Amino acid sequence: MIHSVPDILNQALLGQSLGQKELIRLLDIQVESERQALFQAAYKLKSKHVGRVVYFRGLVEISNICQKDCTYCGIRRSNSRVKRFRLSEDEIIQAACWAHRNRYGSLVLQGGEVQSEAQTAFIEEILNRLHAATDGELAVTLSLGEQPRDVLRRWRRAGAQRYLLRLETTREDFYQRFHPEDHLWQTRLSCLEDLRQEDYQVGTGVMIGLPGQTRADLADDLLFIKNLDVDMIGMGPFIPHRDTPFASYLADFDKPGSLDLGLKMLACARLLLPDANLAATTALQALDGLGREMGLKAGANIIMPNVTDSEYRHQYQLYEGKPSLDENSEQCRQSLQCTIHRIGETIGYGKWGNSPHYLGRCPG
Ligand code: SAH
Repeated sequence: MIHSVPDILNQALLGQSLGQKELIRLLDIQVESERQALFQAAYKLKSKHVGRVVYFRGLVEISNICQKDCTYCGIRRSNSRVKRFRLSEDEIIQAACWAHRNRYGSLVLQGGEVQSEAQTAFIEEILNRLHAATDGELAVTLSLGEQPRDVLRRWRRAGAQRYLLRLETTREDFYQRFHPEDHLWQTRLSCLEDLRQEDYQVGTGVMIGLPGQTRADLADDLLFIKNLDVDMIGMGPFIPHRDTPFASYLADFDKPGSLDLGLKMLACARLLLPDANLAATTALQALDGLGREMGLKAGANIIMPNVTDSEYRHQYQLYEGKPSLDENSEQCRQSLQCTIHRIGETIGYGKWGNSPHYLGRCPG
């Protein structure tokens, strides 16, 4: 029997797990009062388990050079219209020092996927320099795609603590629809397992609203992620990019509908994984100027403000309408700070902001 929305939310608030049917019911909500009730329940759990504190992760987009050809992504290998760039060591350290000076507790180094000894050594060197330049006060997350286990081990030893690798979708057959034959979902999954073995705090997530994706798929995504027992979740709406095979989807792209589904997914994720770190992603902001703040009210507790020199931001467009392209890091920080204070939350300046889930998993 499928319960009513209030019953389902009560079940979640009492700490009982939700199943596929309940999640589909929540994702299908159309009535505004039910929608608000979903967000309020998620917010209640967020307040209880992770607090009303937002942690900033300074995002450094280190390079848009990518060996992969994921069909939806603006920096895919075969997009010849994108001008490729790679930040120098000094530029990355500069961005990191800015984040450190502004008391961001942690940094995310993100980029296209490159598997090579040169890339491995470059990141190792960056990690060493970063550690020295910030007295080890900055927690570092990497988001550099799939890598062999020995590479992950070297980066972990050089000081990276966390890694983000989205599964994109947890349905293997569906994954293959959006990727060339040699991009394997199983490889991505086993990379997540390697990360765990190498003692990283692990984050994953999916894209929401891919063409052909059903509510049942999304509910299953959430249940799959819960089973993976991850520490962090980063997921956001799919947004078509004009230089990809999905260009034709731009004309009919339903921004409000995608935002709504993205927010409902965040809220459901909070109901399922109350003590995980949950990011309000930039893709939400691309759909609505206040999308990330809405994400916080739907249960997210992490924001990743861009700290890359604005000169390069135009060239790191994974999807259409990337926000804040002309804002510098300080303007970004200030506008976020204002909106966060407006919704009555504080910013965890100077703190690493490990998820309680991770702390529970690794006491001490
Ligand atoms: N190369 C790295 C990280 C960079 S891509 C990796 O593969 O993990 C970061 C994320 O951007 C991807 O995982 C994907 O979920 C998201 N992304 C890419 N194209 C997108 C699009 N068109 N709309 C929304 N999100 C997209």
